[in-house]
Amino acid sequence: MAAFSAVKSSRLISWRSTGRLQQTLAGCVELSGKTLHSGKICEVKIWPEFAGCGRYFDFQSKLVPASVDFAEESPLCTTLCKDGFRVRTVEHLLSALEAKGVDNCRIEIKSLDSEVGDVEVPILDGSAGKWVEVIEQMGLKVAVDQSGNSCDKLAPYLNEPMHVWRNDSFVAAFPSPKVLISYGIDFPQVPAIGCQWFSSAPFNGSFYAKQIASARTFCLYEEVERMHDAGLIKGGSLENAIVCSVSKGWLNPPLRFPDEPCRHKVLDLIGDLSLSATSGSQGFPVAHIVAYKAGHALNAAFARLIK
Ligand SMILES: [Zn+2]
Repeated sequence: MAAFSAVKSSRLISWRSTGRLQQTLAGCVELSGKTLHSGKICEVKIWPEFAGCGRYFDFQSKLVPASVDFAEESPLCTTLCKDGFRVRTVEHLLSALEAKGVDNCRIEIKSLDSEVGDVEVPILDGSAGKWVEVIEQMGLKVAVDQSGNSCDKLAPYLNEPMHVWRNDSFVAAFPSPKVLISYGIDFPQVPAIGCQWFSSAPFNGSFYAKQIASARTFCLYEEVERMHDAGLIKGGSLENAIVCSVSKGWLNPPLRFPDEPCRHKVLDLIGDLSLSATSGSQGFPVAHIVAYKAGHALNAAFARLIK
């Protein structure tokens, strides 16, 4: 983390009660689909779990906690790795679980092409919309611990402003009694995207479901070409991302929101900061977050600071 500058102190954060109880899913939900990087088919089943267990992946019977302690640097997605077992592209699924209040769950994941040691969450349509849909269809219940008791849900509250930054990118957070998010991106060389800012209303599960969840991954056509040539993003297609060309604009309109790219960055931010969660707590800080041109690496640096 030497590349990042950070203001850091544990007194910046207090883990306090949200006044709510920890939850889990009312039953198992499942989805399968193609993965972005390998292009293989992968199946995910999300099972209810006891309070205090938090969220974790179960891959070939190896358990990989959805914690920033196991997050690995990767520029295109967020990857979790433990004991050589790697789960890639976790951010959209975790974003939906965090925003909808699925505090505890076991995420069983398997590649139907059985590639040893490496698996990836299906990209679906490039958004978290499908995950939110199956979570809402199943519904939630109060999670109990192994003695049958419900547990208080904690969240990180900020006592003072904090930030991480690199060059002109940053994630900053300011004390606030409610979660608020303001996010900016700037692509001066791509007129169809340009400079966008998105500011949320006080954040909750229904705001997320309506305004954020269906915002899709975006990419630049010229970069996609290069990545394809390098053997990357084998599963990438016009079905799982909105693709923008520098000269021709959006190649697969219509957009779901005029500022869909910026909203997707909010979706990613929530998924990445959910990795601060432990033992069924909220990971996303109760704060006003202001972020600009941040990516997965900077988000992870901020999640480490919270934790
Ligand atoms: Zn994303």
